Amino acid sequence: MVHKYSDRIYYSDFDEVSDRPVLGYVAGNRYGILIDAGSSPRHINAFLQEIYGFGLRKPDFVILTHSHWDHTYGLCALDIPAICNSLTYELLKKDSEKIWDREHFEKYKKSGSIEPFIYEHMEIEYPDISEVSIRLPDMIYTGSFTVDLGDLTVEAYQVANAHSKDGSVILVKEEKVLFVGDSFYTELVGDDWVDHPDLVREYHKALEKLDFDRVFPAHSENISKEEMFAELTERGNA
Ligand SMILES: [Zn+2]
Repeated sequence: MVHKYSDRIYYSDFDEVSDRPVLGYVAGNRYGILIDAGSSPRHINAFLQEIYGFGLRKPDFVILTHSHWDHTYGLCALDIPAICNSLTYELLKKDSEKIWDREHFEKYKKSGSIEPFIYEHMEIEYPDISEVSIRLPDMIYTGSFTVDLGDLTVEAYQVANAHSKDGSVILVKEEKVLFVGDSFYTELVGDDWVDHPDLVREYHKALEKLDFDRVFPAHSENISKEEMFAELTERGNA
């Protein structure tokens, strides 16, 4: 289900069954941008249908928080320019070189190049795994990226974080809202979720420089900046 946060920001629920993440839609006076492309064409199309139900127009761009499948494999269903950082691009390129059929999917699971957690959720999202189609983004930045949507600024910052090597956080400046993708979470290693206090401290420091009030993580409820920083302080000291 999609919710209205403000006149200019909309976001979806996350789903623990198929591990679908929160998606965002940010509307300026001139352009609209999607935050993350979803797990599959089904996922992103369902989100867009609800967005149109609010009377919003088709988005003009999509920007990715990181390369993980649940945030990016819906990209092939979109015909708008896609933006990501250079590391996300490299990682997606690697994914696109995999062979997506049943035989190889089982092999990747066995060899550990696809973790059991990912395998299980992809099985739910893709009853036919050969439907996976990976589209590479078109506009690639390093460090940071800004787009003026018309009286509304969206800024992306590539940040060190515990979850992945390629995370970016997306700031909707005038609304003081930060979409963080999975960068707030720990890293999946085999069967375990592993934290990295040094990276958490680095992440915390980078976020302290940004002006925001509300945080949208991709697989949990949105929280205040204070709630987020309290947790980061705790994890950074562990
Ligand atoms: Zn992730």
